[in-house]
Amino acid sequence: MALWQSTMIRLARSKSITSLMQGNRLMRGLAGRFVGGDSTAAAVRRSAELNSLAITTSLYYLGEYVESPAAIEENVAQLIASIEQLGQSNLDVHISIDPTQIGYAHSDALGEANALRLGKLIAAQPAAGRRRLAMLDMEDFSVVQKTLDLRARMAEAGYPTGITIQAYLHRSGKDIRDLVESGAAAIRLVKGAFAESRDHAWTSRMEINREFLLQAAVLLSSEAKARGVYPIFATHDDQMILAIIELAERNQRSKDEYEFEMLHGVGAPRQQKLTTEGYRLRLYLPFGTDWWPYTVRRIGENPANVRFVVNALRKTGAPAR
Ligand SMILES: Cc1cc2nc3c(=O)[nH]c(=O)nc-3n(C[C@H](O)[C@H](O)[C@H](O)COP(=O)(O)OP(=O)(O)OC[C@H]3O[C@@H](n4cnc5c(N)ncnc54)[C@H](O)[C@@H]3O)c2cc1C
Repeated sequence: MALWQSTMIRLARSKSITSLMQGNRLMRGLAGRFVGGDSTAAAVRRSAELNSLAITTSLYYLGEYVESPAAIEENVAQLIASIEQLGQSNLDVHISIDPTQIGYAHSDALGEANALRLGKLIAAQPAAGRRRLAMLDMEDFSVVQKTLDLRARMAEAGYPTGITIQAYLHRSGKDIRDLVESGAAAIRLVKGAFAESRDHAWTSRMEINREFLLQAAVLLSSEAKARGVYPIFATHDDQMILAIIELAERNQRSKDEYEFEMLHGVGAPRQQKLTTEGYRLRLYLPFGTDWWPYTVRRIGENPANVRFVVNALRKTGAPAR
């Protein structure tokens, strides 16, 4: 699994393969499964469709590990446009942000300044009973502490900010307890998507699941509730979902005190079952024209998807290894 995932991550970061794939019609079809559209307007439309099915969304503008100031500014401009468009709607939408897409791959100062611009704008949008939130995605280990520091900085400035925590990191148990203690607005728990070393991360499925549930218990604790922490469980794993529901019931947490979040295009029957049973569900909805790195990472999470990539690489003439 680690080799497969790290190969996909290398494919995601290759500029030549990215431009080859994004110009390829067949690969664009594959991306359509995971991506909500190529523009802000398309993503807002898709959010409205999903909202009518009682599903909320978390918008993510595609463009990560960006180093050039011009590309960073373009990412921020797109995020600003989507926040403004959403402000005019009555949709419940989070804005997911990768620190490396808004400046951290260039300099910490630029990343922080842009995050504060976005946070301020999100805070200024009319709430009208909706939860407005900047949700910081968590990237590879090199930016974990920076992302935690950024959340603290944004919270200090009074901007509604959530953060993603990767259960597979050895440090995450403590990070979650600290975040709960500080009354973080929202914490989104994921297993973790990067190929981290054993020095920093649990690597077996059993260990990662164990950590995920230990951390979920902290998020559903009475202390987290008392401090106003909103738990989000971002997983497609039925075993984790059932265990969380049981845990929430044991802790007398009602269905509207937490939510599940899944990726657009992954596990539709599971998504439908949850909404039918009255659980809150949010879908992570990426949009934009730079869809290859995101799509290939999603594919990397499921080795059964290998055939899609190999077939497409053969058809485009790119090396499959
Ligand atoms: C909303 C959301 C936000 C995320 N944000 C981050 C983040 O900020 N940082 C980070 O490191 N990771 C993030 N992730 C990814 C996460 O860390 C996992 O890698 C990913 O969710 C797969 O783990 P799982 O919990 O679904 O369990 P798994 O045990 O990996 O998967 C459970 C089942 O789900 C299905 N499945 C899972 N993924 C796929 C897929 N791509 N295609 C088809 N089927 C699939 C499979 O059937 C699998 O059996 C996010 C995930 C979600 C849902």
